[in-house]
Amino acid sequence: MTRDEYGLALLRSCYGYDSFRGQQWSIISHTLDGGNSIVLMPTGGGKSLCYQIPGLMSEDGFAIVISPLLALMNDQINALQQNGIPALALNSEKTDAENRQTVELLMQGKVKLLYISPERLLSEIDRWSTSITDRICLFAVDEAHCISQWGHDFRPEYTQLGTLRQRFPHIPVMALTATADRITRDDIAQQLHIPDAKLFISSFDRPNISLNVVKGSTGKQKMRQIIQFISLHRGESGIIYCLRRKDTEKMAAELTRVGIKAEPFHAGMSVAMKQRIQRDFINDDLKVVCATVAFGMGIDKSNVRYVIHSNMPRNIESYYQEIGRAGRDGLPAEAVLFYNYGDVVTLQQFALQSGQVQVNMDKLKRMQQFAESDVCRRRMLLSYFNERFDHDCHNCDVCNNPPERFDGSRLAQMALSAIMRTGEQAGLFTVTDILRGWRKAEVIDKGYDRLKTFGVGRDLTTPEWNAYLLQMLQMGLFDIAYNENNHLKITSYGTEVLYGRQSIQLSRYQRHRFNMAQSTTTSTPLPLPTVALSSTTSRQMDRDLFEKLRDLRKAIATASNIAPYMVFSDKSLQAMATERPTTQAEFSLIYGVGDLKCQKYWRPFTAAIRDHLAKQ
Ligand code: ADP
Ligand code: ZN
Repeated sequence: MTRDEYGLALLRSCYGYDSFRGQQWSIISHTLDGGNSIVLMPTGGGKSLCYQIPGLMSEDGFAIVISPLLALMNDQINALQQNGIPALALNSEKTDAENRQTVELLMQGKVKLLYISPERLLSEIDRWSTSITDRICLFAVDEAHCISQWGHDFRPEYTQLGTLRQRFPHIPVMALTATADRITRDDIAQQLHIPDAKLFISSFDRPNISLNVVKGSTGKQKMRQIIQFISLHRGESGIIYCLRRKDTEKMAAELTRVGIKAEPFHAGMSVAMKQRIQRDFINDDLKVVCATVAFGMGIDKSNVRYVIHSNMPRNIESYYQEIGRAGRDGLPAEAVLFYNYGDVVTLQQFALQSGQVQVNMDKLKRMQQFAESDVCRRRMLLSYFNERFDHDCHNCDVCNNPPERFDGSRLAQMALSAIMRTGEQAGLFTVTDILRGWRKAEVIDKGYDRLKTFGVGRDLTTPEWNAYLLQMLQMGLFDIAYNENNHLKITSYGTEVLYGRQSIQLSRYQRHRFNMAQSTTTSTPLPLPTVALSSTTSRQMDRDLFEKLRDLRKAIATASNIAPYMVFSDKSLQAMATERPTTQAEFSLIYGVGDLKCQKYWRPFTAAIRDHLAKQ
């Protein structure tokens, strides 16, 4: 058997997959040849196989996987053990006896993958005999961006890892991360002492995640839309990100009130509580979590079907990382971002109070541009990450519902004239009130109801005005003076438009560009070639059967005290509900069914399928 064939055979027998994805095999080959590498891949891209397979292929050696988070480590090990792969961890959550036994097994060459934290590795490795160190075939540094002070998740422990290269110059190093920027990347190479590392950059596109933005909804309206959306996704797991702790609590309470079981999650909660919620979420006992950004790190759940941003995130990096938690199994998933001006104001305040005002304001601006954009959202996102993507994606709200443009000069004149007549002493909401002719307290106090422009924009609704004013702001007709109570100030360009020397185009406000009521990810046929199930293109997935198999998976998981997605991923269940295998041989061919899982599970699953078919 050639090396290539052996790699593929392991992929099939251990994981139940038919082929390597993207650059996986090139990365593995490079490592097997002794090369160092830096691997940049988005979340869900398939980084773990890159270091697991070299460990498995090494005859009596093992790969060391350096990972910062205990929870993630344990999850990965559980998942590997489900596939019959001898993976173990050395960490403080284990008893001394367990850790001693692990070292013993390492000595005997009975381990293929050892997961360990950086500090533990560095304190431990000096004590290991050569019967262990001689077996190390790879140092894989997961979440390698943690080494960089410029990154968003710096961990001082990581900086010591450079010494490994000096002590073990012949053992290849593989650094993996989903953070792509050049500074971080250079820092990784330098600090790990691998200047010769080959760089493997995968596309950061996640084509299975549909990108959607809902503009201008606030308060009750937003709540209604979220409830409607979740109702269409019953039984599916999702995360709702909120800006503040109290919003997560309010959101969870509102959802619970209408019969959707949801829990809040934020940094202010007790550790025990947070752990319980994470567990319930991973085990599919809790489908909806309303969380601040604190939730998600260290969760490796593959079947999160949607991520809702109830408030706009502070930058595109966070947004991308958060939506990346959806659809790790490659099946269609949805990202919905709610965008309104109130959030922008709050985020600006955060940015102004932060240590790096300019950088954070700029990043916020880019985030806002993304939400405002009238070009394909994926194009915009990937261009932000400096990736070339030269076509429309057809899986975002802009592509699905392109904007209609019209001459907005008259509207702009109304708005600019209102701003001017306030002496540039009003904020965006007040300007909307003036245009709409609302007699709010502030409007009356300041005498704005006597302005010539009071009520001239009555024909448009408040969300319409809000949306158009935002477009005008983006175009640069006026600015927001952050240091003057967010009052609007007309720019020289705005003056040109006000006096009719320039005209502008606006894109028509569409209340329902993204219709929450029509988003039905799982019941639509899979739109992407990458997720189409090879031999079954003509066959449809049987939705009822899928639900039955999902229940069976849950029952098995509960009985064996593991997470449902570790039994099988949603993608495997879909393959079963499409192919409907009834024999062990047929079952063994299903996506994600390796040798061990076939042995363990073919009986209950094929029995459920036969039973289902008999009832039809
Ligand atoms: P990352 O660590 O990059 O976030 P993972 O390694 O967790 O991504 O992989 C994401 C998902 O894709 C997992 O469910 C994994 O089993 C699956 N996967 C990875 N490589 C392949 C492959 N070659 N074929 C099919 N599925 C794969
Ligand atoms: Zn698009």
